[in-house]
Amino acid sequence: MADTNRAVIYRGIRHVEVEDVADAGFVLQDGPGVHPDNVGRELPHAAILKVVATNICGSDQHMVRGRTDAPEGLQLGHEITGEVIEIGPGVEFIKKGDLVSIPFNIACGRCRNCKERNTGVCLNVNPEQPGSAYGYVAMGGWRGGQAKYVTVPYADWNCLKFPDKEQAMDKIRDLTMLSDIFPTGYHGCVTAGVGTGSTVYVAGAGPVGLAAACSAQLLGAAVVIVGDMQADRLGQARSFGCETIDLSKVDSPEAMAGAIEGILGVPVVDCAVDAVGFEAKGHGTNGEEAPAVVLNTVMGITRAAGGIGIPGLYVPSDPGAADESAKHGNLSLQFGIGWAKSLTFATGQAPVMKYHRGLMQAILNDRVHIADAVNATVITLDDAPRGYEEFDSGAAQKFILDPHGLVGAAA
Ligand code: NAD
Ligand code: ZN
Ligand code: ZN
Repeated sequence: MADTNRAVIYRGIRHVEVEDVADAGFVLQDGPGVHPDNVGRELPHAAILKVVATNICGSDQHMVRGRTDAPEGLQLGHEITGEVIEIGPGVEFIKKGDLVSIPFNIACGRCRNCKERNTGVCLNVNPEQPGSAYGYVAMGGWRGGQAKYVTVPYADWNCLKFPDKEQAMDKIRDLTMLSDIFPTGYHGCVTAGVGTGSTVYVAGAGPVGLAAACSAQLLGAAVVIVGDMQADRLGQARSFGCETIDLSKVDSPEAMAGAIEGILGVPVVDCAVDAVGFEAKGHGTNGEEAPAVVLNTVMGITRAAGGIGIPGLYVPSDPGAADESAKHGNLSLQFGIGWAKSLTFATGQAPVMKYHRGLMQAILNDRVHIADAVNATVITLDDAPRGYEEFDSGAAQKFILDPHGLVGAAA
């Protein structure tokens, strides 16, 4: 490898460091968070990427805020775009020099779930449970991509090759969103049933919520309403034509229905997307956590027979939860409201591969401007600790790490 590998490492609560790390290679080596059954796993089907762009995600923040069992020393990062610099002997079609987007879900392409396009729950990559991702707790121990170089297993299957490198570098701030948040927001909308003329509520104006709002527009929604309690993020949603609800001022289900009615003339939407997850804050509060509030709210304001997409992450156990039952993953759901209305729910990791090619084409042909929607902001790899801190404090920005200065140079 040309130079020393460096990566973002989790060093304890609200503490990440950028450190020199081992080269990316063709064997899964032991390390923090690596499942024993994955240690020594040979990867002849892998490619090694020089990372061109890798983004910080709200999913990383759950770990860095200490809300998971992520071990110290974990190499972070699951949103990866890069240039192939080496391939294993089992790689047939991806070539050195290809510029590729990598779905954050690691998938084998051979199991029943992969064959059914449910790559978010691949059965062969994580000995602990179905589904895997780079640089994530309980996901098998694949090293993260907030690094200069990273190993991508099953490269022929996982890599989405951009058709033209020069054209791709012109739009790299948009294309980097294909590894996670754009397909994730889009999946939230598709599973909620968003189509031409839909009215949509998106809970959360973080990058995933904004990507969902942008996706709803791409899918033809008539009105997209975004709710959050952070003013800057709501301003970001309005910047591309969304309506907004400031949830710091909405303190009851009735007030919420009233806010929807004030915009639409009726107190319900056709479709809703939860882009918040288990660290949800209570409405009309000073930020006290209320882990079931988003799910209960969307059940309340979605029309009978409507759909709810839930990309927001929920966990089986939450060591940092405010109340005892939430520590064990138990939420106070008013499930009867949803049941009585025949609502449908879709959960889980977004199967990125289902959508990334179509969304790439939409970007390359100027049908959508996802980087502007999420306020993509490019920083150096060494600046990652600042990016994590500002993102955690609610900056209305999606931070892209630029480990080799290639994104900055293309701008
Ligand atoms: P983020 O933390 O930046 O955004 C969450 C936003 O929700 C914040 O702006 C916060 O103020 C807001 N919020 C808090 N309580 C709220 C409430 N009651 N109603 C409405 N908004 C509220 O995170 P992000 O990067 O946008 O990610 C959002 C969620 O999506 C996270 O849980 C993340 O783990 C998850 N995620 C899931 C997938 C997937 O495949 N399913 C992929 C990526 C991210
Ligand atoms: Zn992510
Ligand atoms: Zn699989």
